[in-house]
Amino acid sequence: MDNKADTLYQNDEYDIIIAGAGCAGLSLLYSILQSPILNTQKILVIDKSLEKSNDRTWCFWEIKNGKFDALVCKKWDQISVHKKPFSTVLNTAPFVYKMIQGQDFYKHIISFAKQFSNVHWQETVISSIDAINEKAVVQWEGGEAKGKKVFSSILPIDQLYAISQSKSDKAFLWQHFKGLLVQFEQDTFDDNIARLMDFNVDQKKATAFMYVLPLDTQKALVEYTLFSKSILNPADYDKELKDYLNAKFPNRNYQILHEEMGAIPMTTQPFASSKPPIYVIGTLGNAVKASTGYAFQFIQAQVNEIVTNLALDKPIHTEVQVNRHQFYDAVLLYILDRDLMEGSEIFKRIFEKNKVATIFKFLSNTSSIWEDIRIMRSLPTKIFLPAAIKVLFRRG
Ligand SMILES: Cc1cc2nc3c(=O)[nH]c(=O)nc-3n(C[C@H](O)[C@H](O)[C@H](O)COP(=O)(O)OP(=O)(O)OC[C@H]3O[C@@H](n4cnc5c(N)ncnc54)[C@H](O)[C@@H]3O)c2cc1C
Repeated sequence: MDNKADTLYQNDEYDIIIAGAGCAGLSLLYSILQSPILNTQKILVIDKSLEKSNDRTWCFWEIKNGKFDALVCKKWDQISVHKKPFSTVLNTAPFVYKMIQGQDFYKHIISFAKQFSNVHWQETVISSIDAINEKAVVQWEGGEAKGKKVFSSILPIDQLYAISQSKSDKAFLWQHFKGLLVQFEQDTFDDNIARLMDFNVDQKKATAFMYVLPLDTQKALVEYTLFSKSILNPADYDKELKDYLNAKFPNRNYQILHEEMGAIPMTTQPFASSKPPIYVIGTLGNAVKASTGYAFQFIQAQVNEIVTNLALDKPIHTEVQVNRHQFYDAVLLYILDRDLMEGSEIFKRIFEKNKVATIFKFLSNTSSIWEDIRIMRSLPTKIFLPAAIKVLFRRG
């Protein structure tokens, strides 16, 4: 990776510094470079590692074609949800559930950005980002850069753990998981259906499910996922995955092609807020939907809003979790955090009684109040109403 930052703009300042080149940082870079008004700006991209690996798979839903369709490796228009004796296959129309491999996303955007000589790269661990005299100063060992604006998505995992342990009225759960990309020797999966939630697994006193995304009839990403306060030992995920695959597909051999692990914060506690000239994006910028852990599309919405306002030279807003839906998230987390109702039962009821299109809109924060009411009517008032009142009147 070139180190042009120290040479070309040594005494100069950048128009934009992107601190963290993961999903949010690279999505922002890509959008800026696609804007004829912004794509000549002096940009510095900093990340501790610009040699990206296939560290995650993003799935999300959208209607019709999307900006990253060329990178989508698989899409489904049917999903299934299972909780014995309930088992259903549902049509997602007009939404399509799509999958992108992390490495394809990183590679595509980085190679696109490499065509722009005004984009500079710095591979280093950022130690601080401060606002000094209305400029942002980003520091790392042995260097610093100044920017008119910094967009940061840097949220080290130890800082996140500290937040998870801090005293707050607002619930904090982890969505944690291990996934295996498995390859069977014979046809094993119906690759038309993404198994979104199969709750027929050890719940471990939490909300636990298997997430099975078949890429073809022999290959699938199988993830054991939990919503809970603490994370499991790696061997525990392995055991559940092995037991599930052996029980579902007895006497069939499979090979593990790839593994992925993750822990996504589920909370309505804000991690940081944007204050010019430093703006927070991605997980740090509270783009993760607290009740689901989905963030990819919220990051795209955040980036679109930023780029629109940058191009118009208007104030920049980074909030994407809107009040009404954030309140619903807080109520659901309150219930899960206090074990007032099993998560598996909540999600089962929602999928049993509503169309996927309504659920996806609700989970994308784009549902109307009437659609929200429809979803809420699937859930027991005697549990949800007192929880909603508690959340509404609590401090903070
Ligand atoms: C395994 C996994 C799977 C996921 N799957 C989905 C999914 O299917 N759908 C969905 O909607 N969401 C998913 N998410 C949630 C969310 O979309 C991702 O976490 C997303 O990558 C968040 O983007 P981000 O830019 O905030 O963070 P990241 O993508 O993690 O980017 C942060 C960047 O900052 C860099 N960095 C950190 N500290 C420093 C430092 N001090 N100095 C320099 N650089 C630093 C890191 O190297 C990294 O490149 C998933 C998350 C994980 C972990």
